[in-house]
Amino acid sequence: MDERRDLYEVLGVGREAGPDEIRKAYKQAALKHHPDRNNGDPVAAQRFKEATEAFQVLSDEQKRAIYDQYGFAGLEGGGGGFPGGVDLGDIFGNFQDLFSEFFGGGGQRGRGRGPRRGADLRVQERLPLKDAAFGCKRELAIAFPAPCERCNGNGAEPGTQPTACGTCRGSGQVSNARGFVMFTAPCPTCRGEGRILKSPCTQCRGQGQEARQKKVVVSFPAGIDEGQVLRIPGQGMPAPNGGQAGDVLVQIELEPDPRFERHGADLATRLKVGVADAILGAKLPVATLDDEPLEIELPAGTQPGHVVVVRGRGVPKLEGKGRGRGALHVVVEVEVPRGDALEAATRQLVEQLREALRASGGQPSETPVTETGAETTETGTG
Ligand SMILES: [Zn+2]
Ligand SMILES: [Zn+2]
Repeated sequence: MDERRDLYEVLGVGREAGPDEIRKAYKQAALKHHPDRNNGDPVAAQRFKEATEAFQVLSDEQKRAIYDQYGFAGLEGGGGGFPGGVDLGDIFGNFQDLFSEFFGGGGQRGRGRGPRRGADLRVQERLPLKDAAFGCKRELAIAFPAPCERCNGNGAEPGTQPTACGTCRGSGQVSNARGFVMFTAPCPTCRGEGRILKSPCTQCRGQGQEARQKKVVVSFPAGIDEGQVLRIPGQGMPAPNGGQAGDVLVQIELEPDPRFERHGADLATRLKVGVADAILGAKLPVATLDDEPLEIELPAGTQPGHVVVVRGRGVPKLEGKGRGRGALHVVVEVEVPRGDALEAATRQLVEQLREALRASGGQPSETPVTETGAETTETGTG
């Protein structure tokens, strides 16, 4: 290791190369010699290490200036943090950020070979009950993180470079000995980043990332329900190495509806019925989710809380085609008019009614709430 190759030579760039050219050259070298891609070949590992060391110096303005003037001696002398003789593990540790960009996986040391899959993007979408019930198509704007355009993702204002943190020498970790035991903790100076931004990028405030949006047209199938997750394959983040793109996962929320409650494929709605209609029976229109007209027939003596089940007028069933729709449960509410608000003539009629009912012993029915469902069902279509 005495005869070190010139750092510019290692990366194959000229002395006047700019930061972008150096970055590109390093990326190429790193991809070519990466140990994961060379079955652990020691020569490749050595080349990889050299390239990384070269990049570590040449991508840092200060270190590069020192190297240009004094060569390796300048870097090794003044505690400048040149990683002479560090092992590969440390280099990987120091360059997690870079590796996550190059290899797309937070600097993993290649446990999973082969191309990695892109990340999934998750969103929530709130649908009106009707749209969820009968299906709909919507264009969703989905936010995803992308490298900041201004700083190319490195977090530093253009024209400046992040510098290695002096406290932890770029590792992001500090170790303290307590007795015979070493404790490792994230570096307090750089908060574990390993580098310091003297001039953070003004666009991303040093995050290196910014939120972007992509538009995805999503078809929500009829019958989709609260809490369900719709997966749209291949619309997520692209894969880092030409692998499969991730998916978009849409979690469904339902807007509350003033007229209907949904229970799976069944719907419930309330029907206000006048006293006379409840006593005498009536044919009444009922609100439906599909807005198709529907009338139900109430028998004479309909009680409050009476439920009419109309099959086939609920929500289409999601699983399997041709399974039809759930039922609409119509719950009767009997409206009792306020006596003091009645016109005199009507009030008189009600008084007569009271007398007549008392005379005939016609007390309110004591039969419990009934459920007729079946008799009235055939109003429906299914
Ligand atoms: Zn930025
Ligand atoms: Zn630090």
